[in-house]
Order: sequence, then structure tokens, then C-alpha cells
Amino acid sequence: MISYQVIEHGRPLQKVLAENPRPQGSEVLVRVTRSGVCHSDLHIWEGYFELGGGKRFYVKDRGCVPPFTLGHEPFGIVEAVGPRVPKSLLGKKRLVHPWIGCGKCAICKAGQDNYCISGRRIPGVTRPGAYSTHILIPDPKYLVDASGIDESFAATLACSGVTAYSAIAKLPPLASGDRVAVIGCGGVGMAGISVLRAKGVKNIVACDIDAAKLDAAAKLGAKFTVNTKESDAAQQLQGIAGAIDFVGTPATAGLGIAALRNGGRYVLVGLHGGELTHPLPPIAQRAIGIVGSYVGNLAELKAVVALAKKGKLKPMPVETRPGSEANRALEDLNAGRVVGRVVLDFEALAATL
Ligand SMILES: [Zn+2]
Ligand SMILES: [Zn+2]
Repeated sequence: MISYQVIEHGRPLQKVLAENPRPQGSEVLVRVTRSGVCHSDLHIWEGYFELGGGKRFYVKDRGCVPPFTLGHEPFGIVEAVGPRVPKSLLGKKRLVHPWIGCGKCAICKAGQDNYCISGRRIPGVTRPGAYSTHILIPDPKYLVDASGIDESFAATLACSGVTAYSAIAKLPPLASGDRVAVIGCGGVGMAGISVLRAKGVKNIVACDIDAAKLDAAAKLGAKFTVNTKESDAAQQLQGIAGAIDFVGTPATAGLGIAALRNGGRYVLVGLHGGELTHPLPPIAQRAIGIVGSYVGNLAELKAVVALAKKGKLKPMPVETRPGSEANRALEDLNAGRVVGRVVLDFEALAATL
């Protein structure tokens, strides 16, 4: 197998050749055809998340120590299975649910793997990831049939799609005239607009500092756009029922929370970093909610895939590049040069093996 690995945080990934792992027990070996490039990959590559106030969260404290392979958005073909997995799965194309917990604790057994703290098995975080021709998945139950969906688009559903879906599920009940702000129109924000549209929300307000991203958001179905660099941005947003913050800075959080109508809800998804300080009484007096949302669970991924299969999810712009361009993809994402999502194609590299 060929993998692109972090050898040292912040340095270019290196191409590494190794033997294919052999699936044991209930494991499944997937030959990766597509692998999404995510903003979280940038943080993991750099080695930390900013917590604000000069504090950082280091990924090594969650067991993410170089050398390791990045990537948590794999789509591919089942190439080998462990002895406890039906052989009928061989050759099947599947999307991988990456937010895998220990599989044994009460939280995992309740289907909430993404909340597990006992031993997460996330590709590209605590296990070898998907910037690779092959990836080992612990159990076939984490494979989702996404047939009929474009492969590159399908890869994005396992992260940006399910993350957006889970965040939107945390909004308050919406009346037909209610406006919902999507703050940050990168890959996950764009998925958010798609899912909101699919769920029948009409008054979507796309917010960003980049005019090109706002144009793309409007094309995808946002009814209003607000450039948050403008001095009256807060005024334009005033009275929103919900804000989903896909950026996550003190400025975006402040903007979203201040603009909520009474009873509205601010959902934080983005991990850009910083600290929130907010007076307490107005949170009660305005009956607003401030809630975090982290990726999504397997049931939510299946729900997103079902929406996509029905043709209800308008695909965001997806650019497919050869897997060998993993470094350039990260650099472009880091420089804000990506509209929508970059997905790496590992098929050509696998053919060289
Ligand atoms: Zn991701
Ligand atoms: Zn668990």
C-alpha cells in the first residue's frame, strides 16, 4: 500500500510504501478510491488546535503521534475481510463511517460512537487514515452502501455531510418564516446549506468574509448572503432563529449569539479556536441555547446518504485531484484557495502497486 504520512507536524507529508495489512477477526480492508481532504486535517497535520488565551490542545494527547497517515473521509472497495466477516462483502463499494468509538461501552452500544471516550478508533486520528491506497476498518457495520452517489461527493458525506446534518438536528423547531444563518461557507458550511435545503428550510443566510464563497453559497441555495466584514453584518442578521457556526472564533460566536431571536439556538461546529466570554443573565432572559456539535453518528450518516440517494442533496463543488497531490491540497486549503471540497483519487496510485 502507498500512504501519505505525517512524519513531523507541519512538514510536507511523505509517501510511504508498506505491506497491505491483513484483516483479522471482524476487520475489513478497503481499497480507497476517494479520500476527502478536510479542514481538521490541517489542525492534525500542524499538531494542535488553538484554544484561545495562548492555550493549545495538542493532538498527541489524543494518541495522534507521528508517523501516521492523515485522512478520515474514505470511500472504496472491500478488498479483503477477516474470518468473522461474510465473504459476500468482497468487491462491494462502500462509504466508511469514520467516527468509530471503542464499540464496547454503553455510549457506543447506544449508537453514539462519536461521543465515546473509552478508546476511539478514528482513521487519520487514532488509527492509520485514508490518504492511502488501503485502509483497515474494525467492523463491517461502519460501512455504508452509497451506491448511485458520485464517489467523490459520497466521500464528503462521511465528514462534512454528517457533521452538517447532526448540527442542523440541534436547531430549535423552525417556523416557515424563520431565518437560519450558516456562518462560514467552506466545505462543511456548504454541506450545511445543502442539508437545510433538503429539510425544507427556505430562509438560509450564508455568512462569510469571502465574496467567491458567498456566490457559491447562493448558487447552492442560500436565499441571503452577508459579508461579515461589512460593518452592518450584525444588524442584517438580527432576529435569526438559529446560527450554525462552522468557523468557531470569538468573532463568529459573538455575531451568531448576539443575533439570535428569543428562544433561538447557536450551534458551534467549527474548531478554529479561541475563548467565549458572555454575560450570563441574557442567556436565561432570552432563553437562547448555546450548544456544541461534533461530527455525527452512524444513523445520522445513513440519513444523509439516504437524502443524497433521493437526489435531495445538491452536491457542493467538489474538485477531484490525484492522491499524489495530497500536499498541494493541504497547502491550498490552508491558504483558503479551496471552494467546496478537494477529494483525492487513489485509484491511479493503487494501479502502480
Ligand atoms: Zn473531516
Ligand atoms: Zn465506546
